[in-house]
Amino acid sequence: MIPPQLTIHEAHRLLKARKLSSVELTKACLERTKELEPKLKALVTVTGELASSQAEKADQRLAGGKGHPLTGVPVVIKDVICTKGVPTTCSSRMLENFIPPYDATVMEKLNACGAVIMGKANMDEFAMGSSTEHSAFFPTHNPWDLSRVPGGSSGGSAVAVAADEGIYALGSDTGGSIRQPAGFCSVVGMKPTYGRVSRYGLVAFASSLDQIGPLTKDVTDCAIVLNAIAGYDNRDSTSVPEPTPDYTRCLTSDLKGLTLGVPREYFVEGMQAGVKTALQAAIKKLEELGAKIDWEVSLPSTPYALAAYYIIAPSEASANLARYDGVKYGFSYTDTDSMWEAMEKTRQFGFGDEVKRRIMLGTYALSAGYYDAYYLKAQKVRTLIRREFDQAFTKYDALITPTSPTVPFKIGEKLDDPLQMYLSDVCTLPINIAGVPAISIPAGFDDGLPIGMQVIGKPFGEEAILKVAYAYEQATEWHKQRAGI
Ligand code: GLN
Repeated sequence: MIPPQLTIHEAHRLLKARKLSSVELTKACLERTKELEPKLKALVTVTGELASSQAEKADQRLAGGKGHPLTGVPVVIKDVICTKGVPTTCSSRMLENFIPPYDATVMEKLNACGAVIMGKANMDEFAMGSSTEHSAFFPTHNPWDLSRVPGGSSGGSAVAVAADEGIYALGSDTGGSIRQPAGFCSVVGMKPTYGRVSRYGLVAFASSLDQIGPLTKDVTDCAIVLNAIAGYDNRDSTSVPEPTPDYTRCLTSDLKGLTLGVPREYFVEGMQAGVKTALQAAIKKLEELGAKIDWEVSLPSTPYALAAYYIIAPSEASANLARYDGVKYGFSYTDTDSMWEAMEKTRQFGFGDEVKRRIMLGTYALSAGYYDAYYLKAQKVRTLIRREFDQAFTKYDALITPTSPTVPFKIGEKLDDPLQMYLSDVCTLPINIAGVPAISIPAGFDDGLPIGMQVIGKPFGEEAILKVAYAYEQATEWHKQRAGI
Protein backbone atom coordinates (compact mmCIF):
# COMPACT_ATOMS: atom_id res chain seq x y z
CA MET A 1 0.00 0.00 0.00
CA ILE A 2 1.31 3.46 -0.87
CA PRO A 3 1.02 6.15 1.86
CA PRO A 4 -1.78 8.18 0.17
CA GLN A 5 -3.99 5.07 0.36
CA LEU A 6 -3.89 5.06 4.15
CA THR A 7 -6.93 5.91 6.24
CA ILE A 8 -6.63 8.52 8.99
CA HIS A 9 -6.39 5.91 11.74
CA GLU A 10 -3.78 3.88 9.83
CA ALA A 11 -1.73 6.99 9.08
CA HIS A 12 -2.00 8.12 12.70
CA ARG A 13 -0.63 4.81 13.96
CA LEU A 14 2.42 5.12 11.69
CA LEU A 15 2.92 8.82 12.42
CA LYS A 16 2.72 8.29 16.15
CA ALA A 17 5.17 5.39 16.02
CA ARG A 18 7.44 7.62 13.89
CA LYS A 19 7.44 4.98 11.13
CA LEU A 20 6.22 7.60 8.68
CA SER A 21 6.63 11.36 8.88
CA SER A 22 3.97 13.87 7.98
CA VAL A 23 6.46 15.43 5.56
CA GLU A 24 6.78 12.09 3.73
CA LEU A 25 3.03 11.46 3.74
CA THR A 26 2.27 14.97 2.52
CA LYS A 27 4.87 14.77 -0.22
CA ALA A 28 3.45 11.45 -1.40
CA CYS A 29 -0.07 12.89 -1.51
CA LEU A 30 1.09 15.99 -3.40
CA GLU A 31 2.98 13.85 -5.91
CA ARG A 32 0.01 11.60 -6.49
CA THR A 33 -2.22 14.65 -6.86
CA LYS A 34 0.13 16.11 -9.46
CA GLU A 35 0.06 12.87 -11.40
CA LEU A 36 -3.73 12.35 -11.28
CA GLU A 37 -5.11 15.88 -11.50
CA PRO A 38 -4.86 16.19 -15.30
CA LYS A 39 -7.37 13.31 -15.50
CA LEU A 40 -9.57 13.95 -12.45
CA LYS A 41 -9.67 17.73 -12.01
CA ALA A 42 -10.79 17.40 -8.40
CA LEU A 43 -8.94 20.45 -7.06
CA VAL A 44 -9.30 24.15 -7.77
CA THR A 45 -6.24 25.12 -5.72
CA VAL A 46 -3.33 22.98 -4.54
CA THR A 47 -1.69 24.50 -1.46
CA GLY A 48 1.63 22.68 -1.68
CA GLU A 49 3.73 25.19 0.25
CA LEU A 50 1.22 25.58 3.04
CA ALA A 51 0.92 21.78 3.30
CA SER A 52 4.69 21.31 3.49
CA SER A 53 5.13 23.88 6.24
CA GLN A 54 2.17 22.48 8.21
CA ALA A 55 3.63 18.97 7.81
CA GLU A 56 6.95 20.10 9.30
CA LYS A 57 5.16 21.61 12.29
CA ALA A 58 3.07 18.47 12.66
CA ASP A 59 6.21 16.34 12.77
CA GLN A 60 7.59 18.50 15.59
CA ARG A 61 4.35 18.10 17.49
CA LEU A 62 4.32 14.33 16.94
CA ALA A 63 7.96 14.09 18.03
CA GLY A 64 6.94 15.79 21.27
CA GLY A 65 4.33 13.06 21.77
CA LYS A 66 1.44 15.55 21.42
CA GLY A 67 -0.31 14.22 18.33
CA HIS A 68 -4.07 14.33 17.76
CA PRO A 69 -5.44 11.65 15.34
CA LEU A 70 -5.55 14.37 12.65
CA THR A 71 -2.07 15.77 13.30
CA GLY A 72 0.00 15.67 10.13
CA VAL A 73 -2.76 14.06 8.03
CA PRO A 74 -3.41 15.76 4.64
CA VAL A 75 -6.96 17.02 4.06
CA VAL A 76 -8.78 18.56 1.10
CA ILE A 77 -11.36 21.30 1.78
CA LYS A 78 -14.40 22.02 -0.39
CA ASP A 79 -13.93 25.47 -1.87
CA VAL A 80 -17.05 26.83 -0.16
CA ILE A 81 -15.35 26.84 3.27
CA CYS A 82 -13.36 29.97 4.09
CA THR A 83 -9.63 29.43 4.52
CA LYS A 84 -7.64 32.42 5.73
CA GLY A 85 -5.13 33.58 3.13
CA VAL A 86 -6.10 30.79 0.69
CA PRO A 87 -8.45 31.51 -2.25
CA THR A 88 -12.05 30.40 -1.63
CA THR A 89 -13.83 30.54 -4.97
CA CYS A 90 -17.04 28.49 -4.57
CA SER A 91 -16.06 27.44 -8.12
CA SER A 92 -17.59 30.73 -9.27
CA ARG A 93 -16.25 33.56 -11.43
CA MET A 94 -17.80 35.82 -8.80
CA LEU A 95 -15.28 34.76 -6.15
CA GLU A 96 -12.44 33.70 -8.46
CA ASN A 97 -10.00 36.09 -6.76
CA PHE A 98 -11.50 36.11 -3.27
CA ILE A 99 -9.05 35.44 -0.43
CA PRO A 100 -10.85 35.29 2.93
CA PRO A 101 -9.32 37.32 5.77
CA TYR A 102 -10.56 34.73 8.27
CA ASP A 103 -10.91 30.99 8.82
CA ALA A 104 -14.22 29.13 9.12
CA THR A 105 -14.72 27.61 12.57
CA VAL A 106 -14.13 24.11 11.16
CA MET A 107 -10.78 25.32 9.79
CA GLU A 108 -9.79 26.78 13.16
CA LYS A 109 -10.65 23.42 14.69
CA LEU A 110 -8.68 21.41 12.10
CA ASN A 111 -5.72 23.75 12.41
CA ALA A 112 -5.76 23.36 16.18
CA CYS A 113 -5.47 19.59 15.61
CA GLY A 114 -2.39 20.14 13.45
CA ALA A 115 -4.02 19.32 10.12
CA VAL A 116 -2.19 19.58 6.80
CA ILE A 117 -4.30 21.51 4.26
CA MET A 118 -3.32 20.33 0.80
CA GLY A 119 -5.91 21.98 -1.39
CA LYS A 120 -9.37 23.31 -2.13
CA ALA A 121 -11.84 21.05 -3.93
CA ASN A 122 -13.88 21.74 -7.04
CA MET A 123 -17.67 21.89 -6.66
CA ASP A 124 -20.84 22.97 -8.39
CA GLU A 125 -20.92 26.76 -8.35
CA PHE A 126 -22.08 27.92 -4.89
CA ALA A 127 -22.91 24.25 -4.16
CA MET A 128 -25.86 24.26 -6.57
CA GLY A 129 -25.86 21.00 -8.47
CA SER A 130 -25.46 17.24 -8.32
CA SER A 131 -22.61 16.52 -10.72
CA THR A 132 -19.84 19.14 -10.28
CA GLU A 133 -20.50 20.08 -13.92
CA HIS A 134 -21.79 23.48 -12.78
CA SER A 135 -18.31 24.53 -11.67
CA ALA A 136 -17.40 27.72 -13.54
CA PHE A 137 -13.89 26.31 -14.07
CA PHE A 138 -14.07 22.67 -15.20
CA PRO A 139 -16.00 19.45 -14.51
CA THR A 140 -14.51 16.82 -12.21
CA HIS A 141 -14.24 13.20 -13.36
CA ASN A 142 -15.28 10.06 -11.47
CA PRO A 143 -12.19 7.89 -10.77
CA TRP A 144 -14.26 4.70 -11.29
CA ASP A 145 -15.07 5.77 -14.87
CA LEU A 146 -13.58 9.00 -16.16
CA SER A 147 -16.47 9.55 -18.58
CA ARG A 148 -18.90 9.81 -15.64
CA VAL A 149 -19.70 12.49 -13.07
CA PRO A 150 -18.52 12.14 -9.47
CA GLY A 151 -21.82 13.54 -8.17
CA GLY A 152 -22.07 16.91 -6.53
CA SER A 153 -21.87 19.43 -5.31
CA SER A 154 -18.91 18.17 -3.22
CA GLY A 155 -17.61 16.18 -6.23
CA GLY A 156 -14.01 17.36 -5.91
CA SER A 157 -13.89 16.38 -2.22
CA ALA A 158 -15.28 12.89 -2.92
CA VAL A 159 -12.88 12.30 -5.83
CA ALA A 160 -9.85 13.48 -3.86
CA VAL A 161 -10.64 10.85 -1.20
CA ALA A 162 -11.68 8.06 -3.60
CA ALA A 163 -8.54 8.49 -5.73
CA ASP A 164 -6.25 8.81 -2.69
CA GLU A 165 -5.07 12.31 -3.45
CA GLY A 166 -5.81 13.30 0.14
CA ILE A 167 -6.54 11.15 3.18
CA TYR A 168 -9.92 12.79 3.89
CA ALA A 169 -11.97 15.83 2.93
CA LEU A 170 -14.60 18.25 4.15
CA GLY A 171 -17.73 18.92 2.14
CA SER A 172 -21.03 20.72 2.61
CA ASP A 173 -24.51 19.27 2.25
CA THR A 174 -27.68 21.28 1.59
CA GLY A 175 -29.70 18.60 -0.18
CA GLY A 176 -27.29 15.71 -0.56
CA SER A 177 -24.02 17.30 -1.60
CA ILE A 178 -21.84 15.19 0.70
CA ARG A 179 -23.77 11.90 0.59
CA GLN A 180 -24.58 11.70 -3.14
CA PRO A 181 -20.95 12.19 -4.31
CA ALA A 182 -19.77 9.86 -1.51
CA GLY A 183 -22.15 7.22 -2.89
CA PHE A 184 -21.07 7.88 -6.49
CA CYS A 185 -17.36 7.56 -5.60
CA SER A 186 -17.60 4.69 -3.05
CA VAL A 187 -16.43 6.63 -0.01
CA VAL A 188 -18.07 7.45 3.32
CA GLY A 189 -19.86 10.81 3.65
CA MET A 190 -21.89 12.22 6.52
CA LYS A 191 -24.27 15.11 6.87
CA PRO A 192 -24.50 15.75 10.60
CA THR A 193 -27.64 17.03 12.36
CA TYR A 194 -28.42 20.65 11.48
CA GLY A 195 -26.69 22.64 14.24
CA ARG A 196 -24.12 19.95 15.09
CA VAL A 197 -21.24 21.57 13.15
CA SER A 198 -20.73 25.33 13.00
CA ARG A 199 -21.58 27.02 9.69
CA TYR A 200 -19.46 30.07 10.52
CA GLY A 201 -17.25 30.65 7.50
CA LEU A 202 -19.26 28.34 5.23
CA VAL A 203 -20.35 30.46 2.25
CA ALA A 204 -24.15 30.38 2.53
CA PHE A 205 -26.35 28.65 -0.05
CA ALA A 206 -29.58 27.85 1.87
CA SER A 207 -28.89 28.69 5.50
CA SER A 208 -31.64 26.56 7.06
CA LEU A 209 -30.36 23.44 5.25
CA ASP A 210 -26.56 23.85 4.93
CA GLN A 211 -24.28 21.67 7.05
CA ILE A 212 -20.55 20.83 6.86
CA GLY A 213 -19.44 17.20 7.16
CA PRO A 214 -16.66 14.65 6.53
CA LEU A 215 -15.83 12.55 3.46
CA THR A 216 -13.56 9.67 4.40
CA LYS A 217 -12.30 6.23 3.38
CA ASP A 218 -14.06 4.41 6.20
CA VAL A 219 -16.49 4.88 9.08
CA THR A 220 -13.82 5.08 11.80
CA ASP A 221 -12.29 8.06 9.97
CA CYS A 222 -15.72 9.67 9.73
CA ALA A 223 -16.10 9.45 13.52
CA ILE A 224 -12.60 10.89 14.04
CA VAL A 225 -13.30 13.89 11.79
CA LEU A 226 -16.73 14.49 13.33
CA ASN A 227 -15.10 14.52 16.78
CA ALA A 228 -12.82 17.29 15.56
CA ILE A 229 -15.37 19.54 13.85
CA ALA A 230 -18.59 19.12 15.91
CA GLY A 231 -19.66 21.38 18.74
CA TYR A 232 -21.32 24.60 19.74
CA ASP A 233 -20.05 27.88 18.31
CA ASN A 234 -21.37 31.23 19.46
CA ARG A 235 -20.59 32.69 16.02
CA ASP A 236 -23.29 30.48 14.45
CA SER A 237 -26.64 31.24 16.06
CA THR A 238 -28.10 27.94 14.80
CA SER A 239 -25.35 25.80 16.27
CA VAL A 240 -26.71 23.78 19.18
CA PRO A 241 -25.15 23.64 22.66
CA GLU A 242 -25.44 19.84 22.89
CA PRO A 243 -22.43 18.06 24.38
CA THR A 244 -20.24 16.30 21.79
CA PRO A 245 -19.72 12.63 22.59
CA ASP A 246 -16.62 10.72 21.49
CA TYR A 247 -18.02 9.32 18.24
CA THR A 248 -15.37 6.61 17.98
CA ARG A 249 -16.78 4.88 21.05
CA CYS A 250 -20.00 3.71 19.39
CA LEU A 251 -18.17 1.67 16.73
CA THR A 252 -19.07 -1.92 17.57
CA SER A 253 -19.64 -4.71 15.10
CA ASP A 254 -22.89 -6.09 16.42
CA LEU A 255 -26.39 -4.75 15.83
CA LYS A 256 -28.32 -6.80 18.36
CA GLY A 257 -31.16 -4.88 19.96
CA LEU A 258 -31.45 -2.33 17.14
CA THR A 259 -34.59 -1.93 15.04
CA LEU A 260 -34.12 -0.54 11.55
CA GLY A 261 -36.85 0.70 9.24
CA VAL A 262 -36.92 0.65 5.44
CA PRO A 263 -39.18 3.46 4.17
CA ARG A 264 -40.80 2.27 0.95
CA GLU A 265 -41.11 5.75 -0.60
CA TYR A 266 -37.32 5.82 -1.08
CA PHE A 267 -37.45 2.92 -3.48
CA VAL A 268 -38.71 5.32 -6.11
CA GLU A 269 -40.10 4.68 -9.53
CA GLY A 270 -37.35 4.74 -12.11
CA MET A 271 -34.81 3.41 -9.66
CA GLN A 272 -32.06 1.37 -11.28
CA ALA A 273 -32.56 -2.37 -10.80
CA GLY A 274 -28.94 -2.92 -9.75
CA VAL A 275 -29.25 -0.33 -6.99
CA LYS A 276 -32.39 -1.96 -5.64
CA THR A 277 -30.82 -5.44 -5.62
CA ALA A 278 -27.68 -4.16 -3.89
CA LEU A 279 -29.73 -2.39 -1.23
CA GLN A 280 -31.85 -5.44 -0.54
CA ALA A 281 -28.71 -7.53 -0.08
CA ALA A 282 -27.21 -4.86 2.20
CA ILE A 283 -30.32 -4.77 4.38
CA LYS A 284 -30.27 -8.59 4.66
CA LYS A 285 -26.68 -8.26 5.83
CA LEU A 286 -27.80 -5.84 8.57
CA GLU A 287 -30.36 -8.44 9.61
CA GLU A 288 -27.63 -11.11 9.81
CA LEU A 289 -25.69 -8.76 12.06
CA GLY A 290 -28.51 -8.87 14.57
CA ALA A 291 -30.74 -5.93 13.66
CA LYS A 292 -34.50 -6.31 13.49
CA ILE A 293 -35.72 -5.04 10.12
CA ASP A 294 -39.13 -3.57 9.34
CA TRP A 295 -39.46 -3.56 5.55
CA GLU A 296 -42.83 -1.86 5.53
CA VAL A 297 -42.23 1.63 6.88
CA SER A 298 -44.06 4.52 5.23
CA LEU A 299 -43.15 8.20 5.27
CA PRO A 300 -46.03 9.39 3.07
CA SER A 301 -44.96 13.03 2.57
CA THR A 302 -41.63 12.00 1.03
CA PRO A 303 -42.79 12.51 -2.60
CA TYR A 304 -43.34 16.23 -1.84
CA ALA A 305 -39.84 16.79 -0.47
CA LEU A 306 -38.28 17.52 -3.85
CA ALA A 307 -40.82 20.21 -4.71
CA ALA A 308 -40.58 21.77 -1.25
CA TYR A 309 -36.78 21.77 -1.43
CA TYR A 310 -36.77 23.52 -4.80
CA ILE A 311 -38.88 26.32 -3.28
CA ILE A 312 -37.09 26.65 0.06
CA ALA A 313 -33.47 26.28 -1.11
CA PRO A 314 -33.71 28.75 -4.04
CA SER A 315 -35.66 31.22 -1.87
CA GLU A 316 -32.90 31.28 0.71
CA ALA A 317 -30.26 31.31 -2.03
CA SER A 318 -31.82 34.33 -3.72
CA ALA A 319 -31.54 36.24 -0.44
CA ASN A 320 -28.05 34.98 0.41
CA LEU A 321 -26.65 35.73 -3.03
CA ALA A 322 -27.96 39.30 -3.05
CA ARG A 323 -24.68 40.29 -1.37
CA TYR A 324 -22.70 39.74 -4.58
CA ASP A 325 -23.19 43.19 -6.02
CA GLY A 326 -19.60 43.99 -6.95
CA VAL A 327 -19.25 46.55 -4.16
CA LYS A 328 -17.74 44.83 -1.14
CA TYR A 329 -15.82 41.87 -2.52
CA GLY A 330 -15.62 39.48 -5.41
CA PHE A 331 -15.92 40.22 -9.10
CA SER A 332 -16.86 43.78 -9.96
CA TYR A 333 -17.86 45.17 -13.35
CA THR A 334 -16.48 48.69 -13.50
CA ASP A 335 -16.66 49.64 -17.17
CA THR A 336 -19.64 51.99 -16.69
CA ASP A 337 -20.66 55.19 -14.88
CA SER A 338 -24.01 53.79 -13.80
CA MET A 339 -24.24 52.07 -10.44
CA TRP A 340 -27.23 49.98 -11.55
CA GLU A 341 -25.52 48.83 -14.70
CA ALA A 342 -22.42 47.93 -12.68
CA MET A 343 -24.47 45.71 -10.36
CA GLU A 344 -26.40 44.15 -13.21
CA LYS A 345 -23.31 43.34 -15.24
CA THR A 346 -21.45 42.10 -12.16
CA ARG A 347 -24.20 39.54 -11.63
CA GLN A 348 -24.64 38.82 -15.32
CA PHE A 349 -20.97 37.93 -15.84
CA GLY A 350 -20.17 36.71 -12.32
CA PHE A 351 -22.84 34.01 -11.97
CA GLY A 352 -23.29 30.88 -14.09
CA ASP A 353 -26.60 29.68 -15.54
CA GLU A 354 -27.60 27.30 -12.73
CA VAL A 355 -27.01 29.96 -10.07
CA LYS A 356 -29.09 32.44 -12.06
CA ARG A 357 -31.85 29.84 -12.41
CA ARG A 358 -31.94 29.38 -8.62
CA ILE A 359 -31.98 33.14 -7.99
CA MET A 360 -34.90 33.54 -10.40
CA LEU A 361 -36.83 30.61 -8.89
CA GLY A 362 -36.30 31.98 -5.39
CA THR A 363 -37.12 35.57 -6.22
CA TYR A 364 -40.32 34.43 -7.92
CA ALA A 365 -41.37 32.20 -5.01
CA LEU A 366 -40.86 35.01 -2.50
CA SER A 367 -42.49 37.79 -4.48
CA ALA A 368 -45.65 39.50 -3.27
CA GLY A 369 -48.75 37.48 -4.06
CA TYR A 370 -46.82 34.23 -4.53
CA TYR A 371 -45.33 33.91 -1.06
CA ASP A 372 -48.34 32.08 0.43
CA ALA A 373 -48.81 29.84 -2.58
CA TYR A 374 -45.19 28.70 -2.73
CA TYR A 375 -42.89 29.53 0.17
CA LEU A 376 -45.44 29.20 2.97
CA LYS A 377 -46.81 25.97 1.51
CA ALA A 378 -43.33 24.53 1.17
CA GLN A 379 -42.67 25.35 4.83
CA LYS A 380 -45.84 23.48 5.79
CA VAL A 381 -44.65 20.45 3.82
CA ARG A 382 -41.36 20.77 5.66
CA THR A 383 -43.16 20.51 9.00
CA LEU A 384 -45.04 17.40 7.84
CA ILE A 385 -41.83 15.73 6.73
CA ARG A 386 -40.10 16.56 9.98
CA ARG A 387 -43.04 15.14 11.98
CA GLU A 388 -43.03 11.89 10.01
CA PHE A 389 -39.35 11.42 10.84
CA ASP A 390 -40.01 12.22 14.53
CA GLN A 391 -42.76 9.64 14.53
CA ALA A 392 -40.61 7.00 12.83
CA PHE A 393 -37.81 7.49 15.33
CA THR A 394 -40.10 6.60 18.22
CA LYS A 395 -40.03 3.08 16.72
CA TYR A 396 -36.76 2.76 14.81
CA ASP A 397 -33.14 3.39 15.76
CA ALA A 398 -32.29 4.26 12.16
CA LEU A 399 -33.79 4.20 8.67
CA ILE A 400 -32.12 2.59 5.66
CA THR A 401 -32.44 3.83 2.07
CA PRO A 402 -30.36 4.02 -1.09
CA THR A 403 -28.27 7.20 -1.30
CA SER A 404 -29.25 7.76 -4.95
CA PRO A 405 -31.66 6.04 -7.31
CA THR A 406 -28.91 5.40 -9.89
CA VAL A 407 -25.18 4.86 -10.27
CA PRO A 408 -23.04 7.78 -11.57
CA PHE A 409 -24.32 9.10 -14.89
CA LYS A 410 -22.33 10.23 -17.92
CA ILE A 411 -20.80 13.69 -18.04
CA GLY A 412 -23.18 15.86 -20.06
CA GLU A 413 -26.11 13.43 -19.77
CA LYS A 414 -28.33 15.60 -17.54
CA LEU A 415 -26.79 18.99 -18.12
CA ASP A 416 -29.57 20.29 -20.35
CA ASP A 417 -32.37 18.84 -18.24
CA PRO A 418 -32.44 20.49 -14.80
CA LEU A 419 -35.39 18.38 -13.62
CA GLN A 420 -33.53 15.13 -14.29
CA MET A 421 -30.53 16.56 -12.46
CA TYR A 422 -32.71 17.58 -9.49
CA LEU A 423 -34.18 14.06 -9.36
CA SER A 424 -30.80 12.55 -8.52
CA ASP A 425 -31.28 13.98 -5.00
CA VAL A 426 -34.71 12.49 -4.22
CA CYS A 427 -33.31 10.21 -1.54
CA THR A 428 -31.03 12.73 0.15
CA LEU A 429 -32.86 16.04 0.32
CA PRO A 430 -35.74 15.04 2.64
CA ILE A 431 -33.03 14.54 5.27
CA ASN A 432 -31.93 18.20 5.05
CA ILE A 433 -35.56 19.33 5.10
CA ALA A 434 -35.99 17.43 8.39
CA GLY A 435 -32.59 18.54 9.73
CA VAL A 436 -31.68 14.98 10.79
CA PRO A 437 -28.26 13.30 10.33
CA ALA A 438 -27.46 10.71 7.64
CA ILE A 439 -24.42 8.84 6.37
CA SER A 440 -23.70 7.25 2.99
CA ILE A 441 -21.46 4.19 2.93
CA PRO A 442 -20.23 1.96 0.09
CA ALA A 443 -22.76 -0.85 -0.50
CA GLY A 444 -21.71 -2.48 -3.74
CA PHE A 445 -21.29 -1.96 -7.46
CA ASP A 446 -23.43 -2.28 -10.56
CA ASP A 447 -21.33 -2.99 -13.61
CA GLY A 448 -18.28 -1.62 -11.81
CA LEU A 449 -20.01 1.60 -10.74
CA PRO A 450 -20.45 2.46 -7.03
CA ILE A 451 -23.69 2.21 -5.05
CA GLY A 452 -24.24 3.97 -1.72
CA MET A 453 -26.44 3.02 1.23
CA GLN A 454 -27.89 5.82 3.34
CA VAL A 455 -28.43 5.39 7.08
CA ILE A 456 -30.64 8.10 8.61
CA GLY A 457 -30.80 8.92 12.32
CA LYS A 458 -32.83 11.03 14.70
CA PRO A 459 -31.65 14.55 15.61
CA PHE A 460 -28.25 14.27 17.32
CA GLY A 461 -28.39 10.52 16.71
CA GLU A 462 -25.03 10.41 14.90
CA GLU A 463 -23.84 7.63 17.19
CA ALA A 464 -26.59 5.22 16.10
CA ILE A 465 -25.94 5.73 12.39
CA LEU A 466 -22.18 5.41 12.84
CA LYS A 467 -22.77 2.17 14.70
CA VAL A 468 -24.94 0.71 11.92
CA ALA A 469 -22.50 1.93 9.25
CA TYR A 470 -19.49 0.53 11.07
CA ALA A 471 -21.01 -2.90 11.66
CA TYR A 472 -21.97 -3.14 7.98
CA GLU A 473 -18.54 -1.98 6.86
CA GLN A 474 -16.76 -4.52 9.06
CA ALA A 475 -18.89 -7.30 7.57
CA THR A 476 -18.28 -6.30 3.93
CA GLU A 477 -15.34 -5.53 1.65
CA TRP A 478 -16.78 -2.73 -0.52
CA HIS A 479 -14.86 0.06 1.19
CA LYS A 480 -11.57 -1.73 0.53
CA GLN A 481 -11.97 -1.67 -3.24
CA ARG A 482 -9.98 1.15 -4.83
CA ALA A 483 -10.73 2.89 -8.09
CA GLY A 484 -8.05 1.53 -10.39
CA ILE A 485 -6.50 4.84 -11.28
N1 GLN B 1 -28.09 18.96 -5.62
C1 GLN B 1 -28.84 19.76 -4.71
C2 GLN B 1 -28.98 21.16 -5.27
O1 GLN B 1 -28.56 21.35 -6.34
C3 GLN B 1 -28.16 19.79 -3.38
C4 GLN B 1 -26.94 20.61 -3.35
C5 GLN B 1 -26.25 20.65 -2.04
O2 GLN B 1 -26.49 19.80 -1.18
N2 GLN B 1 -25.43 21.66 -1.85
O3 GLN B 1 -29.50 22.05 -4.66
